[in-house]
Amino acid sequence: MNEHLFKILVIGDGEVGKSSFLHRYVNGQFNKTYKMTMGVDYSLKLLYWSDKEKVRLHLWDIAGQERFISMNRIYYKGALGCVVMFDVTNPTSFRSCRHWKQDLDNKAMLPNGDSIPCILLANKCDLAQRAVTTDSIKRFSEANGFVTWMEISVKENMNVGEAMRRLVQEIMSVE
Ligand code: GDP
Repeated sequence: MNEHLFKILVIGDGEVGKSSFLHRYVNGQFNKTYKMTMGVDYSLKLLYWSDKEKVRLHLWDIAGQERFISMNRIYYKGALGCVVMFDVTNPTSFRSCRHWKQDLDNKAMLPNGDSIPCILLANKCDLAQRAVTTDSIKRFSEANGFVTWMEISVKENMNVGEAMRRLVQEIMSVE
């Protein structure tokens, strides 16, 4: 069996749901009081991608360093995929996605010089007080070089696995 190891980053403003997303994806749980530590959190997930391929995901969460908006290059080093997340009830977190994507593209690239495959995730779609429209997400995603975008709810477990499958698929196709 072929084995791949992919480093994937999750970035975005604080409180948008990054830690909850990884916790849900890796452990299958949503925990309202899930507390993160300061620094970088890592999680591992093993995927049996096909009969012939196994994928080990090394997931990096910036955990509490969001206020810097600009991350240390070390964090980006060797990354093969990225999730940029915002909260649909928080327009500021949506606007920040431009900076997060630029920071990524300025500091990291694939070994072949291409930019790192990156998906845009609109979290907390379960909430009624939505402030960012689907249309503006779509336009923003296309204008800023995201591979794709998806509306998700970590709380309702909506599109969490699907989003990660889409990203892994993209990484496999450029590898
Ligand atoms: P982070 O700072 O980006 O890592 O965000 P957290 O994962 O700590 O989540 C911030 C807050 O948003 C927590 O209170 C979570 O319970 C809540 N949260 C995360 N995802 C969702 C979601 O899909 N829906 C709702 N309603 N709340 C969420």
